[in-house]
Parts: sequence; structure tokens; C-alpha cells
Amino acid sequence: MVITFHANATDEELHAVEAKLRDLGFQVVRAPTTGPVVLAAVGDGALPPVEEVGRMAGVAEAVGIPEPFKLASRSFRHETSVIRIGDVEIGGSSVVLMAGPCTIESEEQMVRTAAAVRAAGARVLRGGAFKPRTSPYSFQGLGEEGLKLIRRVADENGLLVISEIMDKSQIGLMERYVDILQVGARNMQNFSLLRELGKTEKTVLVKRGLSATVDEWLMSAEYVISGGNDRVIVCERGIRAYETYTRNTLDLNAVAVAKSLSHLPVIVDPSHASGVRDKVIPLARAAIAAGADGLLIEVHYDPENAICDGQQSLYPEQFQALANQLRQIAGAVDRTL
Ligand code: PEP
Ligand code: MN
Repeated sequence: MVITFHANATDEELHAVEAKLRDLGFQVVRAPTTGPVVLAAVGDGALPPVEEVGRMAGVAEAVGIPEPFKLASRSFRHETSVIRIGDVEIGGSSVVLMAGPCTIESEEQMVRTAAAVRAAGARVLRGGAFKPRTSPYSFQGLGEEGLKLIRRVADENGLLVISEIMDKSQIGLMERYVDILQVGARNMQNFSLLRELGKTEKTVLVKRGLSATVDEWLMSAEYVISGGNDRVIVCERGIRAYETYTRNTLDLNAVAVAKSLSHLPVIVDPSHASGVRDKVIPLARAAIAAGADGLLIEVHYDPENAICDGQQSLYPEQFQALANQLRQIAGAVDRTL
């Protein structure tokens, strides 16, 4: 239930409504809006009828939230959430490029790739230090050594850092080095991790699972928000279908649906969606045209020799050319880059 108060509602009136709902066992969350106070009551069980809450002193309107994801829904918060990290805004009028290698490999790799993505206009440097590999014999990431490297190189280039977190035991370590904690597709329903991420102050990017519905994906975001952290971004990265020419199938429907159902910024990862370098470029263009708030793209200064995902990593020149096209596409949909 979303409860909107009159602009002149008193603190006592607000507290009376909050107390009533808390006594019934519901969690009460205040929407981060300016203007009249908006509260959401969420929890298990039957809420009192909206008419009853609507009649309480100070209340302008009480309405139900039809979606299962309550705090992530536009019913709760009408405007798109803008997440500010330093001078970067995600979900605002500018689309944000996050780019870098699949995994952090070496100083030379990070220094050369970061300079290239920065020059093209990226604001966030990506690179995994803990890699969820299908085979236990594949490279698993450089761990803390990699995190130190990506942080230093990002700082030298004025970039933010996004990196994947695989387990809740890594939260303390990763908070020291990373601006955006990425929950990978394979971990989208790691509920104990999502709950713990609700306690951090870091921004969390939740990737869509390989076979997750939009409802399931947004429910994963809901876990983090209901745990106390509303700095959440969701990322469509392709779902598993029957096509074999591409690694996955980019679901732009999901972008349009998530944008209309949820106030959370929606990012697209065309690299894991396609798995094929030349196909990443048109998918990236389409994602911005479809209304995505940004892109997460694999770029490597020497993709032929990348430790992982070289076949889908763009050359720096390709990323630069793509960014130039994206600037025009962003303009056509009333955004900037
Ligand atoms: C990644 O971004 O490096 C990654 C492993 O992506 P996903 O979780 O989407 O497969
Ligand atoms: Mn990858």
C-alpha cells in the first residue's frame, strides 16, 4: 500500500499511520521524494482496507500496489530513481557507459583499456576480480590484487569502478575498492547475498538471471531495497533461448517492461547477450534507442589475448566509434551521452 499525505500533515498524523501499520507487522518505508510525504507499507499478510487508511487524519490518498515488487515499483515511486555516485548520475538524462575487460588480468591491460574507454566517454570501469566460471579449472580472477589494481587505474582516469561480488563473505573487502557491486546472472537468486547487500551503502547492480522472468528479476532488486538499500540498478544481459548463433538472446522487451513497471535505472549488457564482437555494436545501439539508462560493455586493448570473453570484447577503436553513434541515438530519444 502507498500512502500519500497532505502537504500540511503533522508529524503526529504521520506517526499515527506508521504506528498502526507497524503494529500490524508491516515494514513502513518512506519514498525518497521531495514534496508531500509518501510511505509504503510492505510485508506478509493482509493490509487494512485502503479506505480505512485513506480516512486517517493527514492522509490524502491510500492505494494498493498491484505488483509483487513493492518498493521497486513505479506505483511506489513515479519518477525514475537517479543514483548519484560522485559526479556520475545513473538514471538521469545522460546515458552512462560502463566499460572494460571481462576480468582484471594485469597492470598493462587495465592501464591501456581504462585510458581507451575513458577517451570514448565511459564513466565507469568494469573488470571482474572474482569470476563465476562454468569450469572450476578456468581462471577464477585475481581477487584483492585485482581490486587494488582496478581502483588505482580507475582513480588515475577519473572513473568509477564496477566489479562482481559472488558471495556475501566478500562484501567487506569489495566495499573498500568498488563503487558498484555487480550481482551476476548466476547469483540473481542468491537471496542471502541480496539480503546482505541491503545493509551496504554501495550501489548494487542486479543482472537478470539466464532464465529469470521480469517479475523474478525485479523481486531480486526488491530484496536489496527491502533490506534497506535503495541504490539499485537492474541489468538485462540476455536470456537463454534456442538460438545458437549468439551466446544468449537480448530481451529488449524486458527493458521496455522494466522501465514502465519500475523506477529503477535499467542498464543493458550487450556483450554477454550476444557473445559475438560484431553483434555487440548493433545491440548496444538498439538498447539506447529502447530507453536503457546505460550500457555495460566488454572492451579489451588486446582482445585476441584476453584471458576470458575476448571473442565478445570490443577493440578500443570500435568502442570509440560506437560511443560516437550512441551520442546521436541518445539525442534522438531526448538523452545525452
Ligand atoms: C560479467 O559481467 O562479467 C558476467 C559474468 O556477466 P553475467 O553474470 O551476466 O554472465
Ligand atoms: Mn565476461
